[in-house]
Amino acid sequence: MASVQRCYRHPDRETRITCATCGKPICTECMQQTAVGLKCPEDAKMPRSARTGVMKPHQIAKTALAGLGVGVAGIFVVFAIFQIGFFSLLLSGVAGYFAGTLILRAGGRNGGPIAMATAAAAILIAYAPFVGPPLLAGNLPGYPLVMVLIALVLAVFSSRGQI
Ligand SMILES: [Zn+2]
Ligand SMILES: [Zn+2]
Repeated sequence: MASVQRCYRHPDRETRITCATCGKPICTECMQQTAVGLKCPEDAKMPRSARTGVMKPHQIAKTALAGLGVGVAGIFVVFAIFQIGFFSLLLSGVAGYFAGTLILRAGGRNGGPIAMATAAAAILIAYAPFVGPPLLAGNLPGYPLVMVLIALVLAVFSSRGQI
């Protein structure tokens, strides 16, 4: 039996209606009719697509900042991975995964194209000092390139959100 709840915006009003998105109780005055049911004013304003993959400006700024930070810090991580010399592919994958996760968190866990592009850029920054010079010199650094690819795939995968 559904117990009577009180509107979260009007604690003095009893209601049996709850928002289809967030489940908060809403009174008849607050409820908004949408294509997918009754919703609270906050969720009615926000189309479904706005809840995933779309960021607010401050989240985009944080994502870009995190991407830069992860990229620069990543240079040291990549340097360490090259020093260790073994498990490089595995370590690159782990580093890429953490880079993507950090960037996803910075953007409020929205994920989406901006987070994915930022994660890819961060990996490229991190590996550029090691892979860039030989590439520019016309040599194809095969093994490091595989490391970049693995890190890239995992970073983009972990930053897209909604896994
Ligand atoms: Zn709601
Ligand atoms: Zn209300």
